[in-house]
Amino acid sequence: MSHAGAGYAPKRVLVTGGAGFIGSHLCDALIERGHEVLCVDNFYTGARRNISHLLGHPSFELMRHDITFPLYVEVDEIFNLACPASPIHYQNDPVQTIKTSVVGAINVLGLAKRLRIRVLQASTSEVYGDPQIHPQTENYWGHVNPIGPRSCYDEGKRSAETLFMDYHRQHRLDIKILRIFNTYGPRMDAADGRVVSNFIVQALTGEPLTIYGDGSQTRSFCYYSDLVAGMLAMMDTPSDFTGPCNLGNPAEFTMSELAHEVLELTGSKSKLQHMPLPQDDPRQRQPDISLAKDRLGWTPKVALREGLKETVAYFDRLLSDR
Ligand code: NAD
Ligand code: UDP
Repeated sequence: MSHAGAGYAPKRVLVTGGAGFIGSHLCDALIERGHEVLCVDNFYTGARRNISHLLGHPSFELMRHDITFPLYVEVDEIFNLACPASPIHYQNDPVQTIKTSVVGAINVLGLAKRLRIRVLQASTSEVYGDPQIHPQTENYWGHVNPIGPRSCYDEGKRSAETLFMDYHRQHRLDIKILRIFNTYGPRMDAADGRVVSNFIVQALTGEPLTIYGDGSQTRSFCYYSDLVAGMLAMMDTPSDFTGPCNLGNPAEFTMSELAHEVLELTGSKSKLQHMPLPQDDPRQRQPDISLAKDRLGWTPKVALREGLKETVAYFDRLLSDR
């Protein structure tokens, strides 16, 4: 269903990282609402498969480009998502990861400044590091190791937030910052190492489910459709609301609980295998979403079990097509 109609103004929207997991769903949602989308991606972790159904669509354009280099395009609005999000990918080339967050932000902000347009940054709950307050509220400054293996991502995203706020204060740029908590769903890369995709792929292929540490660490998982709805709502808030604003599903699970849920849903006979806990792995994570509820009128709707079912079905199709 298209939302374009009388009084509705379609925009030309730039989505950096548009061929990734979340970015590709955002491109779909924007096109669904009648906008034109310019998807910019260097395919570092994204996949052509995620956007192949949009290629040839009159409202969709794909540009292969690395945002650490300046970008000269004409658009009305920007969602900046370009950045590898999975620990194994962002730690594989940490210098490129921090460049993507910092130099990429400078390039995207420069573009927004020239065009005088609104720009939204996909920040992360990782800015809270291994948090000492629970659940995490936006006024918490975080507990981040600045020199550890995760810092290329965490500190890169923190610097990007600084840049967004400085462009806002110094140049009166219209900005939005969203702190996204663990999000999952169809189009995650089967090999990207994040816990939901790992457990599901392992369960479907009869491999042991790899639990890092004792499995008592927690995460709160948000289904992609809820997240995308929140991102669109944030972009449409009045310009005096910059965020940062948390987006995530507050339902919190241990990794052991997640493993058992996946085994139950898949009916898999896979065993559990404990592996060493990675360095600086946060112990717990749960968003306080009072601000998003208040300012965006947003709450997540999809329960973990429901979202996992859809995600299992996706990976089942993906693996049987191989
Ligand atoms: P993803 O890895 O699937 O997508 C990232 C996309 O950015 C990929 O298509 C990749 O090719 C592209 N990219 C990377 N470096 C680039 C560069 N230099 N130039 C152009 N494109 C580049 O990850 P995702 O889960 O879809 O995450 C999207 C965004 O949301 C990221 O910024 C991530 O930090 C943020 N985020 C995601 C989560 C989550 O749980 N998925 C949580 C918090 C924040
Ligand atoms: N994890 C796990 N097994 C895996 C992959 C991850 O137990 O095969 C754990 C990981 O140590 C972390 C949690 O699951 O505690 C979430 O990891 P993920 O990489 O998905 O996201 P992040 O750590 O960035 O929240």
